[in-house]
Amino acid sequence: MAKLDYYEVLGVQKGSDIGEIKSAYRKLALQYHPDRNPENKEAEEKFKEATEAYEVLSDASKRERYDRFGHDGMRMGQDFHGYSNVNDIFSAFSDLFGSGIFGGGFGDIFGNQGGARRGSRSMDERGSDLRVKVPLTLEEIATGTEKTIKIKKYIKCEKCSGKGAKNSSSFKKCPQCNGSGEIRQVSRSMFGQFINVSPCNACNGSGQIISDPCPDCKGDGRVSDEDSVSVKIPAGVEEGNYIPLRGKGNAGKRNGSNGDIIVVISEKKHDKFTRRDNNHVIYQLNISYPDAVFGTEIDVPTLYGKEKIKIEPGTQPGTNIRMKEMGIPYINSYGKGDQVVVVNVFVPKELNVKEKEAVKHLSQLEGIQPPDANEHPKSKDIIDKIKDAFSF
Ligand SMILES: [Zn+2]
Ligand SMILES: [Zn+2]
Repeated sequence: MAKLDYYEVLGVQKGSDIGEIKSAYRKLALQYHPDRNPENKEAEEKFKEATEAYEVLSDASKRERYDRFGHDGMRMGQDFHGYSNVNDIFSAFSDLFGSGIFGGGFGDIFGNQGGARRGSRSMDERGSDLRVKVPLTLEEIATGTEKTIKIKKYIKCEKCSGKGAKNSSSFKKCPQCNGSGEIRQVSRSMFGQFINVSPCNACNGSGQIISDPCPDCKGDGRVSDEDSVSVKIPAGVEEGNYIPLRGKGNAGKRNGSNGDIIVVISEKKHDKFTRRDNNHVIYQLNISYPDAVFGTEIDVPTLYGKEKIKIEPGTQPGTNIRMKEMGIPYINSYGKGDQVVVVNVFVPKELNVKEKEAVKHLSQLEGIQPPDANEHPKSKDIIDKIKDAFSF
């Protein structure tokens, strides 16, 4: 389709000055404005054409190029934005229309006829979120738990059902907006007068103000209270994980929506276990020298109660004994991590006379003397095992 001549589109003479071009465009823009011609494709096309013509003819250098080369000249540069919709045009031309008017989109230009904010203009004063730290033991993390949290928060005022007024006759028309809930501001631009509509600050867009506030909440619609909330915590959580409880936070002002409670997990330090790689637990076990030599069965604590493990004869210090699936459950899948028992051989620091005798006697026996650690392959093995145990 051949493009129409820009001067023809605007209905002006070739030699027209900028004032004539502006006023021609203003007339067309108002006539074909999509808000005034809803669902009218033809009007929208005409509006776009006029805008394109105006963009070129109102710019001295673009106009000169157009005058010399016609539409071909315009394709050379990047002068065309290829507007795909009306909103594009607005953002490109917002300076022309005057700032502020276009802030809320096209609808605002004509007093919000576009219907972008139809219905209640009341602004929701949402209550704030509350963060609560919940400290958990490793045992609680291992099994999952349910906690009851006591929390100070705003709740809806019972006396006034959250409305903030003493009774139903305690409302009066907002003097600021005269009950309409909106403030209209008239702006002038090259298109004439435009009306910008925004919710009234004095009444929050409700159109009413409270003449006689509720004595319990002083008009706030909410009161301070203590509440207890229970929260289910799944097994496998870790420090810093959080669980949002939607709508359990502070009540909003005057029936505004509730905020959330954010339950933040904190992990208590355990006196026996260390958590490693999220799902494993390390337990340090001291055994006596004779037990290490002869082997034994021994009860060790786990997060799920006591369990027997076998100490093999000749167990070396630093040996890791892996107790499968005795660690912490994976939070997003089946199964658990392991408990790793790191075996230490206990060396006493204080002995009585009789004990000292026995150890002395032991020391005279050849079989208990260690070989040179650097030469003996078995000792090297032990050292590696110790390294393994601590670099888990
Ligand atoms: Zn008002
Ligand atoms: Zn109240």
